[in-house]
Amino acid sequence: MAESEGLSWPGFRTLARMIGRALILRCPNCGGGPVLKDWFHLREHCPKCGIALERGEESDYYIGGMLLNITLCFIIFAVGFWGVLILTYPRVPWDLLQYGLVAAMIVLPILLYPMSRIVWLAADLAVRPRSERTPEK
Ligand SMILES: [Zn+2]
Repeated sequence: MAESEGLSWPGFRTLARMIGRALILRCPNCGGGPVLKDWFHLREHCPKCGIALERGEESDYYIGGMLLNITLCFIIFAVGFWGVLILTYPRVPWDLLQYGLVAAMIVLPILLYPMSRIVWLAADLAVRPRSERTPEK
């Protein structure tokens, strides 16, 4: 793990493992869970390793998670739109695209919200490990 100025860069395997745990809604640090209090809120601490899931940051801490959520939804929108367009050309189902993608853009951000927050937390834990600033229980 390389370190410079308080930040560290984990190896690819460590980062992939942490993000993989986050994608299945588990604690990025230990893989324990559940880490969700409800669909829109994280528990304060991981029930297995005790790491602070709310890292004591400002209320804007999860803006990065929201950015991740929006980016992921945009990618799914673009892939869905162009995929259907290319696969069905010249008989493009415009009504399906119009209504299906609008519905997807309403539902997907909600479905992906907890995953986005935990992936953001995983990325943060990867570059700022818990021993540096994170208050523990
Ligand atoms: Zn944990």
